[in-house]
Amino acid sequence: MQKWIIHVDMDAFFAAVEQRDNPELQSKPVIIGGLSGRGVVSTASYEARKYGVRSAMPMVEARRRCPQGIFLTGNYDKYIAVSREIMNILADFSPFIEPLSLDEAFLDMTGTEWLFPDLVETARQIKARIKAEVGIVASAGIAPNKFLAKLASDLDKPDGLLIIRPGEEQLAIAKLPVSRLWGVGKTTADSLQKLGINTIGQLAETDLKLLKKYCGNFAEDLQRLACGIDDRPVIAQHEPKSIGKETTFEHDLVSVAQVEEELLLLAEKVGWRLRRYCYSARTITVKIRFASFRTITRSKTLTDPTNFDELIFTTAQAIWSHITMNEGIRLVGITATNLQAGCGQMSLFSEETDKRQSMYQAVDKLKAKFGEKIITKGRLVSRDD
Ligand SMILES: [Mg+2]
Repeated sequence: MQKWIIHVDMDAFFAAVEQRDNPELQSKPVIIGGLSGRGVVSTASYEARKYGVRSAMPMVEARRRCPQGIFLTGNYDKYIAVSREIMNILADFSPFIEPLSLDEAFLDMTGTEWLFPDLVETARQIKARIKAEVGIVASAGIAPNKFLAKLASDLDKPDGLLIIRPGEEQLAIAKLPVSRLWGVGKTTADSLQKLGINTIGQLAETDLKLLKKYCGNFAEDLQRLACGIDDRPVIAQHEPKSIGKETTFEHDLVSVAQVEEELLLLAEKVGWRLRRYCYSARTITVKIRFASFRTITRSKTLTDPTNFDELIFTTAQAIWSHITMNEGIRLVGITATNLQAGCGQMSLFSEETDKRQSMYQAVDKLKAKFGEKIITKGRLVSRDD
């Protein structure tokens, strides 16, 4: 059976949501990301891209290139909600959806010909429904595999719709630079360039033995991709795998107490998100990035899943107590994994647990009404932000 994948990807997603909700931002260069000294751009509207602003660019550089830009920190909770609406629309077209991030997903359309005989028309419908119901513009790529579908959605952006049909695979990608292949970063691209390989087409024709010398075991996969072959299946994911939060600091943290304070703040945020989406987690992971960019992650798995701030915090603190701080810290993160659906604390239903549960319900109601910052542990009140 012919395999068919559609990749749907929103155009400048975060910026598009902001422009949708604030008419003053429409057709303006909107740049979303971390606004502190070390912040990076997460999304730039197409108006901002004209000035050379790109995602992952340091915010300082974005400000230099586009001083008239409108710079926003963004509202991730809103983007999560919009993302859910989009994924719900996609679910009407295929039960096999693999979200890659908040704003893009693969749909496995294999074997749906009787329902959707013309996939170009189907992709058009998907785009139209997202536009009409969510107010966001999406690009779509249709191809016999994931790699080509993702490439196709990107090649025609914004508001794109492109199909690569079986038999057209190699021709469709031959002229593109090798950096468009999955897994080819700057290092690989540079070493390929030394071999005189600049395009995907050249890579497809290179002798495999020669390629193996330079790229090792990666060579075979690379050449298959260059030939437009990709067997990876769409992995339908109905549940999130993790819920986490991390913070990059403008100034490195230099004391254990500062790190603990951040862990407490993050634990509250992660706990709140878990409860809001009705999950509990068994594994808590702490991520620390030192001033030198050395990054470590350490995890601890609990006997019972939790979504209580203090349990997340004490677990994170226990992990942190085993980490030696011999330089400043630029990033701290907490991630909850091993998720289980369920709103309450899963451990023994004691009176104490019940009490805490109702305490959290009250706190969460206030947070939902007045914003996340309204209630925070006494220990954090002294912070001036
Ligand atoms: Mg996108």
